[in-house]
Amino acid sequence: MKIYNTFSATVQDLEPISTGQISMYLCGPTVYGKGHLGHGRSMVAFDLIRRYFLFKGFKVTFVTNFTDIDDKMLARAKEEGITVKELADKIIPLYESDFDRLRVLRPSLRPLATAFIDRMLIITKDLLQKDFAYEIAGDGIYFDVEKFSAYGKLSKQKLEELQHGSRIAVKDQKRGASDFVLWKYKKEGEPSWTDADGVVAEGRPGWHIECSAMAYDLLGETFDIHAGGQDLVFPHHECEIAQSEAYTGKQFAKYWMHNGFVNIEGEKMSKSLNNFTTLDDTFKSYSPLVVRFLLISTHYRSPIDFSQSSLEQAKVSLARIQDFYWRLVTEKLFPENESIAEICEFYLSEFEKSMDQDFEISGAIGAVFRFVKKINALIDKGGISKNNRDLAIQYLEKIDSVLGVLNFDQAEFNPEILAIIEARNKARLEKDYAKSDSLREELTTKGVQSIDTDRGSFYR
Ligand SMILES: [Zn+2]
Repeated sequence: MKIYNTFSATVQDLEPISTGQISMYLCGPTVYGKGHLGHGRSMVAFDLIRRYFLFKGFKVTFVTNFTDIDDKMLARAKEEGITVKELADKIIPLYESDFDRLRVLRPSLRPLATAFIDRMLIITKDLLQKDFAYEIAGDGIYFDVEKFSAYGKLSKQKLEELQHGSRIAVKDQKRGASDFVLWKYKKEGEPSWTDADGVVAEGRPGWHIECSAMAYDLLGETFDIHAGGQDLVFPHHECEIAQSEAYTGKQFAKYWMHNGFVNIEGEKMSKSLNNFTTLDDTFKSYSPLVVRFLLISTHYRSPIDFSQSSLEQAKVSLARIQDFYWRLVTEKLFPENESIAEICEFYLSEFEKSMDQDFEISGAIGAVFRFVKKINALIDKGGISKNNRDLAIQYLEKIDSVLGVLNFDQAEFNPEILAIIEARNKARLEKDYAKSDSLREELTTKGVQSIDTDRGSFYR
């Protein structure tokens, strides 16, 4: 299969370091406020990619972090009059709940930056020793990008231009404008860490070094895929490469993958426009599965247009597949049909062919829609047998192991409705039909339809 590598700026064959295994690191959010659509996009984009690797039979180690110490964390904690740790403890569960609702598979490992300070100190000391880093007294330790000749290769920028291009960024004591901080010396009231050897003065890490340290400790010197939002290419990922490769002398990540931006109602999501739509706000109007479907149905490298109309469209498109599933489970079964095994195989291979080309999702989802149309037409003509129904459901289950947007049991309900559903299922099991019927009526008044089939009861 082929994937686009930002570093080579080409589509390349995927050749993992160890056959059959893929190690991935995705830069996670800084946990100072609620997650917005940009976080959702990045997490869902790489969840889709991870799920596809699993579908292809790879063993995947997927690491994504929470940044729980940096300038934004400090500023927000101060505003709220709480400690940085209290802030992180409050915000992290919100992210986890958002990502769960978006059906993002839990990562193999989800490290917190503050648990890897030791490695950050080791890297910083090593870079000082090798002269890749220097100290600014009373301020901190900086990486000297002039010493790392590959600086700028990922973002395709010339070091010369970076160093002299932006005068605003030049801090008086830095050797070059692009030099970046590895370690910031302690300021009053800030959390700080000490170096047991006393080489590095008390302080806290810069942002870039956090990911280098976590990736090194959890995935090793070199791993397969480093992923993140397009906005992280420069400077964050450029800096990660510089410090990691200066530290190990080895290639940091073999492939670099970046997801595109999110536009809200046609405008780029940005601080100045103040249009950061939070995930939980979006979920108030649209099911997380509709949001996920919208997020995956645009190619991961292209910008996504998030708007009322694109959400509505996603809702309608997703319902076409979901309703097909409802039809399969509720359709009266015919004794026999000509087997649809070959049709299923054909549309599964079409799905795969597209996904193999750098996750060409529109072709993949197109194959699913063509499958739905084809089988619907067959059922219209001659009904469906049990065998064929099971084959069609298996097809949906396979593609949904990648897409993660379908409900094979029932739609998503609030706890109150779920409790009624549970009670009704129990009544049916106990053959208490009077109770089951009255609960059914109660559900109907709440706008929930119950469908009883030989595969169990479904609610939508
Ligand atoms: Zn990072």
